Amino acid sequence: TAAQPMLAVNDLHGWYGESHVLHGVSFDVAEGEVVTLLGRNGAGKTTTMKSIIGILQKRQGSIRFQGEETIGYPSRAIARLGIGYVPEERGIYSTLSVEENLLLPPLVRPGGLSLDQIYELFPNIRERLTSQGTKLSGGEQQMLAIARILRTGAKLLLLDEPTEGLAPVIVEQIGRTIARLKRDGFTIVLVEQNFRFAQTVADRHYVVDQGRVVDMIPNADMDRNIAKLHAHLGV
Ligand code: ATP
Repeated sequence: TAAQPMLAVNDLHGWYGESHVLHGVSFDVAEGEVVTLLGRNGAGKTTTMKSIIGILQKRQGSIRFQGEETIGYPSRAIARLGIGYVPEERGIYSTLSVEENLLLPPLVRPGGLSLDQIYELFPNIRERLTSQGTKLSGGEQQMLAIARILRTGAKLLLLDEPTEGLAPVIVEQIGRTIARLKRDGFTIVLVEQNFRFAQTVADRHYVVDQGRVVDMIPNADMDRNIAKLHAHLGV
């Protein structure tokens, strides 16, 4: 179809100081899709997300969100458009309780989920409301970090390795949460190392290598591309 993608990244370059690490990343995401960025450590997946949300300021190229060019915008302006980022380190306020974390989302725009909607999505969180954020298990922290972003009214969710370091049963829970968010109409970009997990949640996969997207694999074709993936991922 000719529908405009929700997110369109074109020839994106990014730098840490003098170090040029993104060399022309291009990919797009349709509204309601779940896509992954797969690739080995240091390939540029996290840097791509930081560029989209504007934390990495030294960037060039084009990042259009719902048709709007955002490449020069500061991160707050980008968040305000409806893009939410959950960093690998999750970004929970460590000195605050779970409830306070939910009441102090980093930004609020119309359409953010109510506390009741959050508790319905994440029943575990309701049971831990008075706990300090950092006393939660890794899985609970990940759920809380996603919940905080949903409170902001973000419609495009950038999740950086949500399953990292989590036990298989918790990884399954995160998978169910992502599937539910997709059903509810959210659009999700996921950085993953675990491509078995990636296969259970995503519509398409972009392979990132040396600061570029080098391949796109529809989820249905993953099995027959495993050899190629192993080559890219070096596993
Ligand atoms: P990982 O899973 O290890 O995070 P990644 O694909 O997300 O891998 P990036 O974190 O985006 O990779 O890193 C891309 C490149 O940028 C790597 O060469 C990395 O060493 C470098 N890099 C990352 N963060 C910084 C930084 N703060 N300063 C300088 N270089 C950095």
